[in-house]
Amino acid sequence: MLLYVHVPFCRQKCAYCSFYSEAGAIRAGAGARRAYLNALALDFERAAEGRIFDTLYLGGGTPTMLAAEELAELLDIIRRRAVFAPGAEKTAEANPGTLTAEKLALLKAGGINRLSLGVQSLSDDLLTRCGRRQRAADTWRALALARRAGFVNIGCDLLFGLPGQKAADWRDTLRALSGAGLTHLSLYALTPEAGTPLAADMAAGRTTLPDDDAEADMYEWAREFLAGAGYRQDEISNFSLENYACRHNFGYWRGEEYLGLGAGAVSCLREQGKLRRTRRAEAGEYARLLSLGRAPLAPAGTEIIEPETERREYVMLGLRTREGISCREFERRFGRNLEDIFGPLPQELARAGLLLEEGERLRLNPRYYFVANSILVKFI
Ligand code: SF4
Repeated sequence: MLLYVHVPFCRQKCAYCSFYSEAGAIRAGAGARRAYLNALALDFERAAEGRIFDTLYLGGGTPTMLAAEELAELLDIIRRRAVFAPGAEKTAEANPGTLTAEKLALLKAGGINRLSLGVQSLSDDLLTRCGRRQRAADTWRALALARRAGFVNIGCDLLFGLPGQKAADWRDTLRALSGAGLTHLSLYALTPEAGTPLAADMAAGRTTLPDDDAEADMYEWAREFLAGAGYRQDEISNFSLENYACRHNFGYWRGEEYLGLGAGAVSCLREQGKLRRTRRAEAGEYARLLSLGRAPLAPAGTEIIEPETERREYVMLGLRTREGISCREFERRFGRNLEDIFGPLPQELARAGLLLEEGERLRLNPRYYFVANSILVKFI
């Protein structure tokens, strides 16, 4: 089983961010953080007992925004209340601007064996335009400190299609990070989500993003460049050096069960059917519910995943990966074969070259990764 732990605090909100996180002196202040850690300990006691986890993903928000003593406490909560399988992958997300030698030493001592740095870009100008405070120099400093602390498995998240981004900016960032030996790169196209400052700026004509063709060129260049630099494409947005694929991500893509603890975290567990549960996305209310001994769930936070939804999600997530889906495994899991469920669609897509058939496996043809959603939507 996979374990995700959410730390919903950020120094300030990035202009494009629609994730749940709390920013600002009061909402993300020391008092709020302390109350949150107490609540998280209760959440662990209620939900983690009796489970064995294969992975941990400490995400946010910004886990490394916690002060060193708070980070130590969080790691202690996890160490004392969660049981991990031998060799478990344990990732911490880290914002380069908030990492210190002390925090890195704590993460290392706390069993974290994988770092995922929120780099996004190495252009200071582009970082400013997206409302991020960190600078490229912070990334290099964080990387040097992480290596000194003994971390080998270090990946990063990058964004493309940023306001004003040129192909050269993107290429320089990828060349520099792959040259620095990062083990894993996640590349995401910037999406102007409704309600964010970025979307408002775009609606008011103050900001424009590169057009679809420019974005597609950036993506295709990255795929080709990273293949030449020794990275395998694990999934549409994820690339890794050999032996450094993210086990936690693959767990999601393979439809494994996961427990998400913390405000706003999502779990997907099999309990008399498959249930998706979402925790309350407001740290104060999350803590209040736990202090009353109640489940810290969002209103209407329990969704029964019908077999039809589960089959569709399994196919749509699996086809996006390099391993694709196994038709035999599909039948074993769901008791019916692909054709029973989707009729001639898989074969038609394979004949059109959109899916690749490899023995009894099917996967999306990588040539169509950039337009994957327009193909996968046919399975709905
Ligand atoms: S650091 Fe991440 S979670 Fe926090 S505001 Fe920025 S994008 Fe959102």
